[in-house]
Amino acid sequence: MRQLANWQNEENYVIANVVVVDPVTGKAFTGCVGVKEGKIAFVERGEPQIASMPIYNGNELHLAPGLVDIHVHLREPGYEHKETILTGVRAAVAGGFTSVACMPNTDPAIDDKSVVEFIVKKAKIAGMAKVYPIAAATVGRKGKTLCEYGMLVEAGAVAVSDDGEPVASAQMARRVMEYASSFGIPFIEHCEDPSISAGGVMHEGYYSTKLGLRGIPAYSEEICLARDLLILNSVRCRFHAAHVSSRGSVELIRQAKEQGLPVTAETAPHYLSFEDRDLETYDTNLKINPPIRASEDREALIEALKDGTLDCVASDHAPHAAQEKQVEFDKAPNGAIGLETMLSAIVTHLVKPGHMDIAGALALITCRAAAVLGIPGGTLAVGEAADLTLFDPEEEWVVQSDDFYSKSRNSPYIGKTLHGRVKHTFVEGNLVTASLLGVTS
Ligand SMILES: [Zn+2]
Ligand SMILES: [Zn+2]
Repeated sequence: MRQLANWQNEENYVIANVVVVDPVTGKAFTGCVGVKEGKIAFVERGEPQIASMPIYNGNELHLAPGLVDIHVHLREPGYEHKETILTGVRAAVAGGFTSVACMPNTDPAIDDKSVVEFIVKKAKIAGMAKVYPIAAATVGRKGKTLCEYGMLVEAGAVAVSDDGEPVASAQMARRVMEYASSFGIPFIEHCEDPSISAGGVMHEGYYSTKLGLRGIPAYSEEICLARDLLILNSVRCRFHAAHVSSRGSVELIRQAKEQGLPVTAETAPHYLSFEDRDLETYDTNLKINPPIRASEDREALIEALKDGTLDCVASDHAPHAAQEKQVEFDKAPNGAIGLETMLSAIVTHLVKPGHMDIAGALALITCRAAAVLGIPGGTLAVGEAADLTLFDPEEEWVVQSDDFYSKSRNSPYIGKTLHGRVKHTFVEGNLVTASLLGVTS
């Protein structure tokens, strides 16, 4: 058997001696995966039965479908000092992601066909993770005028959102939902009531009082979510709640699903790893919107992932330059990078404590994430693109700021010990992590 370190750009090959984790069936078994011309040719238990193809040794690593992240900020065009499409997709494949959907709060916003085409083209040139643009719901994300969804979808947009901000008026939210429904695309809401959250920098509760920081109550998020769900009851569209952070939001989604409303929802890894008391360090990398909430919220999110109330986990990868974050807590911008620590955060906080098994946890960042947007990926089905991730579920590592391929370093996990680490990523059969060697941003 050959070693992946001696990768030869094969078209047809087998990866053997791996634990195949199939999140669609929930099964994990020792076996091998055959790849032919960029597609999955077979998935088998045990040793490979084929002699005509080169066999690579997976060294007992876990093999899963390439990971899917439906909420990232690639920052280009407009904020190339934070991240570019190239550095963003490098970070994606370094973190095991083969498909990412990028949010429209660029400059200009993704509210025009030409911006969608620009992103699609740049991503193609980068040739790493597949990039699916999410277009703005309203022109300039200003909440005043609807974008032309037909043109945006034709150019490659897979959903609409004004992420970074909510669609602030109920009337506009209704019109967005009506228009999105006629194209069958999801509307992704960043749930927040700015009249309540304005000026706030962390979750409102005991610790905001203790730390002397202005709070954002959980109901800032819940009011917006409740409003949208009430509209959804009359205007049926595919509604997706981004970065759900509170117990109250989980309850609202649970009720809406029980009523049969077409709602899906995600949470982000930092809400599973941290609590508001961790802000005692005043680490600006923990300044995130919506804010890291209290212990009971974190517990409710884990329960909601287990029972399916929440559909998936998305990183909300939000790069900011070092000088932007190295300021007083009040003045720092919101957001943290997340692509390169997400699998590890999920292994550490969902699998290790026994909340979910590895196949169930992987479903949250593969098939279930892809299903929300209706994009390909997240499966090991024969004939599908050979997008694959090889990882070691046991490796323990301390996150260092030099570890990142992202252009930015604003990770709250720096200095933390995580379990599980991505080793190799294949996109359409190409070992894309091989081309990362020696690359720094
Ligand atoms: Zn957001
Ligand atoms: Zn976001």
